[in-house]
Amino acid sequence: MNMINVVSTDPRPTDDVWIPSSCSVCYGTCSILAHRVDGVVVKIEGNPESAVGKGRLCGKGVSGIMTHYDPNRLTRPLRRTNPKKGLSEDPRWQEISWDEALDEISAVLRKVRAEDPRKLVVQRTTTVTASRVLFQTFAAAFGTPNLSTSGGGLHCGNGAHLISGIMHASWSIVPDFEYCNYAIFFGASKGHAAGHASCSNMGKAADARARGMKMVVVDPICNFAAAKATEWVPLRVGTDAALALAMCNIMVNELGIYDGPYLQAKTNAPYLIGPDKLYVRHPESKQPLVWDTRSNNAHPFTEVAAADMALEGEFTVDGKRCRPSFHCLRDHLRKFTPEWAEKISTIGAATIRRLAKEFGTEARVGSTIVIEGVTLPYRPVAAIAFRGSQGHLNSLYNFYAVDLLNHLVGAADVVGSCLGFNPASHGHPDTGKLRYIPSADPDGLMVSGMWMGYHYPYPPSEPRLPTNIGMQDLFVLGMISPFLDSTDREEMWERFDFPYRPEVMVNFGANLLMSIANKEAVAASLANYKFMVSFDLFLTETSNFADIVLPDCSYLQSLDSRSNFPFLFNLPAGMGEWCWPIRQPLLPPDGEQRQCADVLLEIADRVGFRADLNAAYNASLNMQAPHRLDRETRYSYAQICDAELKNNFGPERGLDWFKEHGLIKWKKKPEEVYWRPFVDVRVPIYWEFMLPIGAKIAAIAEPRGLKIPMEYYEPMPDFLPCVSHCCQKPDFDFYAFYYRDVVHTNSFTMENPWLDEAARLDPFSYTVAINAAEARKRSLHDGQLVWIESEAGRKVKGRLKLTEAVHPEGLGIAAMCGHWSDGMPVAKGKGVFFNELLELDWEHVSPANMSLDLCAKVRVVPVEVAS
Ligand code: SF4
Repeated sequence: MNMINVVSTDPRPTDDVWIPSSCSVCYGTCSILAHRVDGVVVKIEGNPESAVGKGRLCGKGVSGIMTHYDPNRLTRPLRRTNPKKGLSEDPRWQEISWDEALDEISAVLRKVRAEDPRKLVVQRTTTVTASRVLFQTFAAAFGTPNLSTSGGGLHCGNGAHLISGIMHASWSIVPDFEYCNYAIFFGASKGHAAGHASCSNMGKAADARARGMKMVVVDPICNFAAAKATEWVPLRVGTDAALALAMCNIMVNELGIYDGPYLQAKTNAPYLIGPDKLYVRHPESKQPLVWDTRSNNAHPFTEVAAADMALEGEFTVDGKRCRPSFHCLRDHLRKFTPEWAEKISTIGAATIRRLAKEFGTEARVGSTIVIEGVTLPYRPVAAIAFRGSQGHLNSLYNFYAVDLLNHLVGAADVVGSCLGFNPASHGHPDTGKLRYIPSADPDGLMVSGMWMGYHYPYPPSEPRLPTNIGMQDLFVLGMISPFLDSTDREEMWERFDFPYRPEVMVNFGANLLMSIANKEAVAASLANYKFMVSFDLFLTETSNFADIVLPDCSYLQSLDSRSNFPFLFNLPAGMGEWCWPIRQPLLPPDGEQRQCADVLLEIADRVGFRADLNAAYNASLNMQAPHRLDRETRYSYAQICDAELKNNFGPERGLDWFKEHGLIKWKKKPEEVYWRPFVDVRVPIYWEFMLPIGAKIAAIAEPRGLKIPMEYYEPMPDFLPCVSHCCQKPDFDFYAFYYRDVVHTNSFTMENPWLDEAARLDPFSYTVAINAAEARKRSLHDGQLVWIESEAGRKVKGRLKLTEAVHPEGLGIAAMCGHWSDGMPVAKGKGVFFNELLELDWEHVSPANMSLDLCAKVRVVPVEVAS
């Protein structure tokens, strides 16, 4: 590591400095040191001072220079001169001045805000995490609830974040790598070059494997995580719940392994469930009742010692037969035998039994460990899931079933177990700011202390007649919605008598056309907007539908008082340090590039809602006097960043202090990291709240002709098939799925020449992985050009790569390749556009959380035969 020589970040004609900042090539936001020589950034390294990345950078982070210096970057505002919008329409761009651009944008927004602010849709990419504050405040101040992150959420997190929030008060989950001895990953790459806290977790996972942690990866493809695992368990795409439920059944019903004291004290396992599947409640206080084994009677859960709460038995309360929810769950699990799960998942029953036994035994139920003088429960096992398992119709139950493995043995937020990302913080020692801790709702169930999504994961809102175009106010368990762009969106809006339609879009860097589903569906939606403005680095497929394109600054030219969303999102879990890094501009804008944060402030001024925007910033950043923004003052974004930093860390630690130091950090305490024994909250192993939500949604939707499949609203998880599992067409014998290639972030890094070169060297990045034996049975060969055709008749072309490392029924394709925009010439024409195979309608969306079904039953046809 070179010496850090921190000086002013003003570019000079001659300089030689290392400047601390934050990567933004993916949402990992690892802390970086950038070496600037004579005004040119010549190298980027990880910042070893930071807990975010821990001094590491991935290949994408190292290559960020090439994205910044790409000659295809936009440098001037552009106006479309061709009024027609379509996939084959040339926008006929014309360069215009910023004044012209902002005049036009402001006039449109002023008119829409006066008519009905909900006609504005705000889209943003998930890649730039810090943009969340900018665009949520802008949307809130403008008055629109219609905010989206295109493919993010809809593909990756509608289930994962919801359930991590309900069960761990966190955005996501990860093994406690320092102490975990046995981790089982269901369609997740955390710690293996992707996911939250990516670079930090890579080091932690590698150390854990070297220490001897057994790592089992359940995945249809053996690539980034599975290739480093102790054991790869290939399964049929989308059947994760079948395996997890069978493992739960073996542990509880065959081996009798579960953590009774944890279930009694920290979950709703003792709550009595009546014949209507709902809690039996106290007639006056309405608290859920438990059976007190000491008095042999039912009492509210707050009035009985946890150790005296019955977990099993049949009781009569007020004439109703009832059982503790654990008893219900135990009975429910019996039907998920390993033999049943084998038929669904293709994993052998003996393997399922062995995995359950290994997991249950290694959990060491009842054991404790001392960490920094504090005695804590020790459960060194973790089951985690992410995009792969939850991106299906059965999104909720897939993830819920996986996480039940943890909760049955008490392996949740204690030493060695499945951890949320920092759900409890006692705040900075000097200011006490950034303090948040989960709390209990009236039923004793956990409410997150902090959240960053569309709504808190629990308690769910009351479903109501929807007025948001994504209908999250009806489907209250969903965050990001397909109904902004779905082929049946107009039918949906008519069904619910929507009083308005989306007319204007403000887009920040999201490439919707590539990140959601088939391009015809999304193009039809985009073409319908009367006006669209897009902040972009390049002319993407999506910006070609805009009316005005604004040249944004790259992360090496941008300022952010928070590099990501602290601390639920990207700070590594486990012991270590709290760490708040900033991002600072190392280079000036090129041409007329401007950072979107400042442009949004100017638009608010021109449209006339600056006061509302300042108020929204105060609310979003939890600003306290004297740092609260004055309603009428015109602040620059740098001034807002300065105010936020002083608000959190004291008046002496404003923007100048952070520009010099790059970050602030302080030590985590065991009571923060392993918070579960110290906070009196319970989590639901029985989701009683699902039934009333489903009933209320059905009461609104069904009179309007939308049938709600109630099997998705049951309180205990099940395996429910994807559309692809039900396909009966002959010859359609493969399940196409996509995976996230670790050399790429979403779709935009394919324009980066170093990453493109790395992808071309990788035999799989731009090809279609097919099981070698299955290919040979069909006389298909390595490198063969084929059509992959979905049962709905959608087709993509790609070259086959034969391998043993994919399930016999699987076709694995790296996500979001196949660009076609001339504005990204390096990326254009490379790889296979998987999303073209995805339908975008009600039938292909989870009726519970609106997660899109991300697999398709396909057939493979050689190009020469097809032609
Ligand atoms: S993991 Fe993401 S944030 Fe970290 S170095 Fe790589 S691209 Fe940058």
